[in-house]
Amino acid sequence: MSEDAGSCNIRVVCRVRPLNNNEISLGGEQCVTFPKPNVISLLGAYYPFDKVFEPHSTQYDVYDFTAKPIIKDVLNGFNGTIFAYGQTASGKTHTMEGNLSKPELFGITPRIVNDIFDYIYNMDPECNVEFTLKVSYFEVYNEEIRDLLDLTKGKLSIHEDRSGKPFVKGLSDHAVASPEEVMELIEEGKSNRHVSVTNMNEHSSRSHSVFIFQVCQENIESKRKLLGKLYLVDLAGSEKAKKTGAEGSTLNEAKNINMSLLCLGNVIEGLVLKKAHISYRDSKLTRILQESLGGNARTTIAICCSPSSFNEMETKNTILFGSRAK
Ligand code: ADP
Ligand code: MG
Repeated sequence: MSEDAGSCNIRVVCRVRPLNNNEISLGGEQCVTFPKPNVISLLGAYYPFDKVFEPHSTQYDVYDFTAKPIIKDVLNGFNGTIFAYGQTASGKTHTMEGNLSKPELFGITPRIVNDIFDYIYNMDPECNVEFTLKVSYFEVYNEEIRDLLDLTKGKLSIHEDRSGKPFVKGLSDHAVASPEEVMELIEEGKSNRHVSVTNMNEHSSRSHSVFIFQVCQENIESKRKLLGKLYLVDLAGSEKAKKTGAEGSTLNEAKNINMSLLCLGNVIEGLVLKKAHISYRDSKLTRILQESLGGNARTTIAICCSPSSFNEMETKNTILFGSRAK
């Protein structure tokens, strides 16, 4: 099965964060073990992944394996996607974004941005290539798309271009000339997520955020263009809605989240099994990501897990989601 995963360009990495103080003080124990490199064991079963990052892994370790190979593809004009999947507080945002004020704690996104700029700064000026880099940032909340870099836009919808390729109509893109400019846009987008929400943690656990980094290269002489797009996705929390308490709009939100994560799982499984029909159309998220899932695009799924016995069932669900893509 894993050869299949390789040939359809899907890799799955599993990251387990350290036990946090709260889990320790409540007497939680580690419910997962690492019997062999790149194998995680839970409740007596063994699950292999392309890579398993144990709790002591650094942000650099995760970046080096998970994101670095995709940069080369994007610079060669391919699309790539990296997802973080897992329950709330499992480490998705830590993995994707990290702490933007401490370089050693930078997550995947700021490291990719820095490396791409470094590549461009170090290029031979004789090679006559002009780069245009652009950033877009939006969230999908309750099956509605909101531009995080232009709040005047309201709800955005998905349209198809002449070749049938879906795109988010009216989504703003912002040309950037330095990593600092990208960081400012990430901060701006994050602060826009807070607007009109009373509880940011709750909101971020219920919405998917999608950061797009576009790299366009044009050869000044031949005018030949090469466009690569990178989608960096921090998914909504995968936890099951609580059976008690969720009703009305909350229940509706939970249903939409479960539905879109289920669709994502189905699309990825369809790609792995090389099914003739892949149901991208079943959720906004999978439709938007269509051009960057499957085909020549590289996809990496980072499943994020709490090690604590308190979260055993959610961790198991997360591992099973990851295993479907293998
Ligand atoms: P999520 O985005 O999945 O809800 P976060 O990334 O916000 O979860 O992580 C929850 C908390 O745990 C944050 O305070 C974060 O800094 C911390 N954390 C997550 N993963 C790690 C890790 N690998 N090492 C240290 N702290 C982590
Ligand atoms: Mg988060």
